[in-house]
Amino acid sequence: MSGNSSIEWTDVTWNPVAGCNIASAGCSNCYAMRMAARLQAMGHPKYEGTTRKSGSRTVWTGRVNVDHSSLNDPVGWKRGKRIFVNSMSDLFHEDVPDAFITAVWATMKLCPQHQFQVLTKRPDRMAAMFAEKQLPILNQVWIGTSVENSEVVDRIDHIVGIAGMTRFVSFEPLIGSIGPIKLDGIHWAIVGGESGPSARPMEIDWVEDIQTACRRANTAFFFKQWGGRNKKTTGRKLRGRTYDEYPHELSA
Ligand code: SF4
Repeated sequence: MSGNSSIEWTDVTWNPVAGCNIASAGCSNCYAMRMAARLQAMGHPKYEGTTRKSGSRTVWTGRVNVDHSSLNDPVGWKRGKRIFVNSMSDLFHEDVPDAFITAVWATMKLCPQHQFQVLTKRPDRMAAMFAEKQLPILNQVWIGTSVENSEVVDRIDHIVGIAGMTRFVSFEPLIGSIGPIKLDGIHWAIVGGESGPSARPMEIDWVEDIQTACRRANTAFFFKQWGGRNKKTTGRKLRGRTYDEYPHELSA
């Protein structure tokens, strides 16, 4: 499934992979899991077998489907876009073959008109593939990892070590304090609270600690949303203003 996105920091999503499983606490209310269940029920072959019912809940089965037919989609988009790669899965899930990940990279190499945003909760595998030179450095690709609380903050170390790339961290859903943190080597930070019926609350101190770390490291700061049960009501202002910075804007 590819299409225009309502996510504030991107234009479209591109999903060459479907299906996943829980990596850490931030995954508990995974939006992709709920959406995959709907698409599976509608008979979309890409989502076949990816979710199942467990009592009243939907859960991932752990099955991951790769979709060769969508590999070239971005090549046909002539106007430059910000493209979120794999909003419905994790490109670096252990069941996605190396050859498929390198094919995704080959497509991105053909598309200098776009900015690709690759976000993973498995940055150790991404770093290993860069170290083994399976993935080339590309200006048009931004690599990121998700950090939802202090327990997974070491994910940042994996992407800081990947030289030559634009690197970002998504602190969403921010469900706990990150604690003292240094963001040197990180170009962009996104912060957002969880939304939906089971949303866990986010405290302003947690957000402001990250904002302070961004200022110290000259990291662009994007405040996406407060979240909650109705994210339209809570909005996306922090102390009365919006923050929509993007990588490299601060370094000029
Ligand atoms: S890694 Fe992403 S897609 Fe996979 S379960 Fe976690 S939040 Fe969902």
